Amino acid sequence: MATNVFTTPAGKKLVTVIPGDGIGPEVVESAQRIIEATGVPIAWEERHAGASIFKRGLPSGVPPETIESIRKTRVVLKGPLETPVGFGEKSANVTLRKLFETYANIRPVRELPGVKTRYSGEGIDLVVVRENVEDLYAGIEHMQTPGVAQCLKLISRKGCEKIVRLGFEFARSEGRQRVHCATKSNIMKLTEGMLKRTFEAIAPEYPDIESNHIIIDNCAHQLVKNPAQFDVIITTNMNGDIISDLTSGLVGGLGFAPSANLGSEVAIYEAVHGSAPKYTGKDVINPTAVILTAVMMLRHLGEFDAAERIEHAVLVTLESGIRTRDIAGDTGATGTRAYTDAIIGNLGKRSSTWSVREYRPLHLPEVSTAPDFVHVEERRVVGVDLFLESASDAESIGHSLEALAADTPLQLKMVGNRGTKVYQPTGAITDVIDQWVARFVQRDEAGEVSDGTILTLLSNVAQMHRWSHVEKLQEFDGQQGFTRAQGED
Ligand code: NAD
Repeated sequence: MATNVFTTPAGKKLVTVIPGDGIGPEVVESAQRIIEATGVPIAWEERHAGASIFKRGLPSGVPPETIESIRKTRVVLKGPLETPVGFGEKSANVTLRKLFETYANIRPVRELPGVKTRYSGEGIDLVVVRENVEDLYAGIEHMQTPGVAQCLKLISRKGCEKIVRLGFEFARSEGRQRVHCATKSNIMKLTEGMLKRTFEAIAPEYPDIESNHIIIDNCAHQLVKNPAQFDVIITTNMNGDIISDLTSGLVGGLGFAPSANLGSEVAIYEAVHGSAPKYTGKDVINPTAVILTAVMMLRHLGEFDAAERIEHAVLVTLESGIRTRDIAGDTGATGTRAYTDAIIGNLGKRSSTWSVREYRPLHLPEVSTAPDFVHVEERRVVGVDLFLESASDAESIGHSLEALAADTPLQLKMVGNRGTKVYQPTGAITDVIDQWVARFVQRDEAGEVSDGTILTLLSNVAQMHRWSHVEKLQEFDGQQGFTRAQGED
């Protein structure tokens, strides 16, 4: 990629380095020492984020001086950041990804020589391309009643298009042949289905690459049964988070899993693993994930030769039996610093078992920055869903809502509870909670529901019920923009 790199007056490429929390400083230092030992012209600008910043009382966990540095350098090598377990603070990791719109998280795993796993010999070599800023991780949550929490899963056509195009471009840049799109579109037809539909629309533009859709749960199953069949897997944020930890496990664990967060402007490089607090300062953890992350970063910076030398030095070290405690166990394990020294000592040696891919520069997709990304000819509001809080029963709620809508152009179509129709009764035996959805549709199907009608209905309903949320039922170019409840006609 090698775009937008900031060069110092001494001709060095400037990288923002965030040591991070827990084991972060140890593993990041290890990667820095190895990079420096290659003699590659890189300078570091150290900045901080995470626990130390939360302690200063900044709820985002990312201070202005760190943002300023990243805006300048556009390349970050980052250690893991602890996520506070509370309500006030956001994850500083998610904040960084969102602040710089690093919409793609690239997580490669490859069978490594000297790292024995259940799959050794099968030739696992795959990459999870995870959407990184949308989905449930946007963190839009509300308590709808004292006992019912909601998290909004927002998936946009624009977000899908960016990740799908990047997935295919990434495959091309590494000469990979096959791309899977893994979704839960059989259940979440609109959100997960958006990624599937976008994938199927864009795949024909890449005829040189085989494309397949797979349901995410089957993908997890197939990954455990026969992981070598996969090459590139494109998926939504949460699915990607889960299956990429799984894929790390296939090749030896989190100690070997690198990652890159890529956006149009900024690239943030970090290991998949977290801050592993119980091992902080003990010189026992495995720095390979961050070292392989640094290899990815060097390729991004156009330093292909240094990247290749480090990659080979890691492999030669592993082949020679030098291993950290996570794979060697308590006896015969090498400490983090000694392992790093061994890799530095092996710079210049080549592994005979490893073939370095032919890396071509990654072409970042150009997608319009217009906020209204999708245009439709026709749109129509055909009804409204009102979300209510009530400790009453379905029958009583249904009757009262019918009466409250009687003088409006809207009629009650059904009452649902946790996605299942409970009024009018369907014969189902369903447990209910105190959050209900009342679906109203227009009596005259030809017309459109006005905002005035919705406001009148809302004020009628509010006379007897506590409401928490209103959602318009819309059609775009004749397509229903909402799903039906279980049991709804
Ligand atoms: P974790 O990745 O820190 O640890 C999971 C397991 O893997 C632990 O058993 C740990 O000891 C082991 N492990 C992790 N890295 C290792 C390494 N390099 N070498 C050897 N063993 C290693 O995950 P967690 O315990 O769920 O999270 C701890 C903290 O890290 C939390 O605050 C979490 O929010 C944060 N976290 C941050 C990031 C990030 O910064 N990108 C990612 C995940 C978790």
